[in-house]
Amino acid sequence: MTLPFIVKPGEKISLSGVDKDCNPELIPDYTAAYRKKGETKKPLKKLNKRLLKLQELLYAESERALLIILQGMDTCGKDGTIRKVMAGINVQGCDVVNFKVPSVDEISRDFLWRAHRVVPRKGKIGIFNRSHYEDVLVVRVHDLVPESIWKKRYQQINDFERMLAENGTIILKFFLHISKDEQKERLESRINDPTKHWKITEADIRERSYWDDYMQAYETVLHRCSTDWAPWYIIPANKKWYRNLVITERIVETLENLDMKYPKPNSDVSTLYVD
Ligand code: ADP
Repeated sequence: MTLPFIVKPGEKISLSGVDKDCNPELIPDYTAAYRKKGETKKPLKKLNKRLLKLQELLYAESERALLIILQGMDTCGKDGTIRKVMAGINVQGCDVVNFKVPSVDEISRDFLWRAHRVVPRKGKIGIFNRSHYEDVLVVRVHDLVPESIWKKRYQQINDFERMLAENGTIILKFFLHISKDEQKERLESRINDPTKHWKITEADIRERSYWDDYMQAYETVLHRCSTDWAPWYIIPANKKWYRNLVITERIVETLENLDMKYPKPNSDVSTLYVD
């Protein structure tokens, strides 16, 4: 299978030219029959079921961990992705971590400290809803530290992720790519729906005016930090159903490729009996 969404190490990306909608040609082979919204429910359910099995195997084997990093502009659908992609998995085997404005405790240490202390243990899936990449995104866009500091962070992130990978953590990074128009619609729908008011703040509107700066910051991230050991995927995310399908596929495929095995029993099971 081809991997049309993966950023090759060192590849230069111009995000304005990358698809944000559903491109039928980019639908992976075996889901090619499912090109419209309603038709993806079945294949997604099938993938969710497979993911549950693979998660169990990951847990049983406990040799490796899976770290999934989700990044994107406000309203890009990080929360919805977690809900739909992880639908049906065993919650005991999965931890979600939200990266907010750093606390005093966190800001007083190196920027990777708070990420390192919450990486998933072997056997588990960890999801970062935002991540250490904020330290070269929001921090860069708003000049929160001098350029001489954030510039060094791309290499530091690559080194950190390589260390994690060499110690058994599989890393997948998804940039949920939406258009500025799509964000406008999603923000407006939050404003117009009282049940969604809790999801919107003035800061979301303010950040929107920095759209181009964020795109530039993301382009650098994708160029500098997509590596063989921790690749970035650009996920067209204007259509939620397409986003969910593609991401779940990537995760399932990655776990399948690990060729995991159930561990050998500690005792000779054939001699066991139950009264
Ligand atoms: P979300 O938008 O992810 O649903 P919030 O609305 O609570 O969650 O936003 C979290 C905020 O924390 C974002 O604006 C994000 O840019 C900010 N943030 C995360 N990490 C950092 C960081 N290292 N430095 C400054 N701000 C950060």
